[in-house]
Amino acid sequence: MIERKVSVMVVGAGPAGIAAATKAAQLGLETVLVENRDILGGIPLQCVHPGFGLHYFKEDMTGCEFIHRLIDRMHRAGVETIVNAYVHSIEFYSQLEKNVNVVTQSGILRINTKTVIYTAGARERHLFELNVHGDRIDGIYTAGEAQTIMDLYGVLPGKDVVIIGSGDVGLIMARRFALEGANVKAVIEIMPYPGGLLRNIVQCLKDFNIPLYLGHAVTEIIGSKRVEAVKVAKVDEDQRPIRSTEFEITCDTVVIAAGLVPNIDLLEKIGVAVDPRTKGPIVNEYLETSIPGIFAAGNALVVNDLVDYAAEQGEIAADGAKIYIENCGIPTRNWTRIKPGRNLRFVVPHYVSRERDVVLYARVQKPERNVYLSIANFKAKMLSLRPAEMIRIKIPFNRILEDNHRVISVEVVPYE
Ligand SMILES: Cc1cc2nc3c(=O)[nH]c(=O)nc-3n(C[C@H](O)[C@H](O)[C@H](O)COP(=O)(O)OP(=O)(O)OC[C@H]3O[C@@H](n4cnc5c(N)ncnc54)[C@H](O)[C@@H]3O)c2cc1C
Repeated sequence: MIERKVSVMVVGAGPAGIAAATKAAQLGLETVLVENRDILGGIPLQCVHPGFGLHYFKEDMTGCEFIHRLIDRMHRAGVETIVNAYVHSIEFYSQLEKNVNVVTQSGILRINTKTVIYTAGARERHLFELNVHGDRIDGIYTAGEAQTIMDLYGVLPGKDVVIIGSGDVGLIMARRFALEGANVKAVIEIMPYPGGLLRNIVQCLKDFNIPLYLGHAVTEIIGSKRVEAVKVAKVDEDQRPIRSTEFEITCDTVVIAAGLVPNIDLLEKIGVAVDPRTKGPIVNEYLETSIPGIFAAGNALVVNDLVDYAAEQGEIAADGAKIYIENCGIPTRNWTRIKPGRNLRFVVPHYVSRERDVVLYARVQKPERNVYLSIANFKAKMLSLRPAEMIRIKIPFNRILEDNHRVISVEVVPYE
């Protein structure tokens, strides 16, 4: 077994991990970044479409352009990276001692580290989680699989395509297939409103005349060896299919773009507390989990529609790691719990110190216009909020000081 000793160990080299490792190295911490695949970059590597970096670099870039700029910056900061290295387990011994066991091509590598920044991204939801009947035949792909086949290996997975899910991933895949000459027959969305950003609905569906069925679900996939058709039905208020409305769409390919779930198996194994709303870890404002010195960022913390926020969270976690190492642990604070109130599905982070400004990320439960986002004495006007668009807002600490409750609620309130 090979042994190493570092201050910061970053798990996963997507945008969150790369930004975290860069920041940690810039802060003077000895940092190693470990990536499972044979290449650094995570999801943006396979994204040839624009829409990346609008906030972070103030430029509209493709996923590949964005990630290569982050990688260049990381190399200049002197981060050590190891690819083809799968983080298998994390062991917690004490405040400043954790072991991370990594399977590499040259054997098992044991990294002894003071802090871990966990940025292993999210996994795609699959057919078994969607209540779709029928055989598991050829022609069914998750969006990530279809994107990898098309944009990394240059192969078109099918010609007549139905996409399940109108989140950004589904919308972008609809456009990718259309641009490659496939016939995108429909995007099927179970909710009564689209799941993706407004700009993606216009640029990916309207511009290509791709039909969007809102309030509908795919109930069955039909075919013997390969997909031949799907059955689609309207759903009722409880999202149950109304059988009398069922109809068929012929197709040879079904792409499942039904959402992502934070990939936190390794953290759950060591007992990190999980928020059932985000399905990611519960964290304080340093993005430190319930286990001291273990931080989480990016899609492993909360599924981000924008890469900018994933990278920003990586940097917040790196700042947290620096403070943690300096103090032999984040100093015990009088933590205040932040709770999602009216029309909010979740808020991250879950605990704040009220001693410094904090960035909150939240999502609404249902679309709403002309509202305030309100927390203690802080109110921000919001013209339009949609579940697909993550709210990101910086709260000045002095605006939440006066409310001396141990739990304060963030809520969406209509204009008076
Ligand atoms: C199809 C699609 C289109 C998108 N389009 C846009 C867009 O237009 N604009 C935008 O701003 N954002 C977009 N996004 C969102 C953006 O890509 C994500 O928010 C971002 O990639 C999340 O970064 P991450 O680092 O958290 O995760 P990821 O990018 O998923 O990276 C996680 C990394 O961790 C590695 N890993 C996992 N487990 C282990 C392990 N055990 N050991 C070692 N390594 C491991 C993985 O291999 C991966 O490289 C899109 C996402 C998708 C899926």
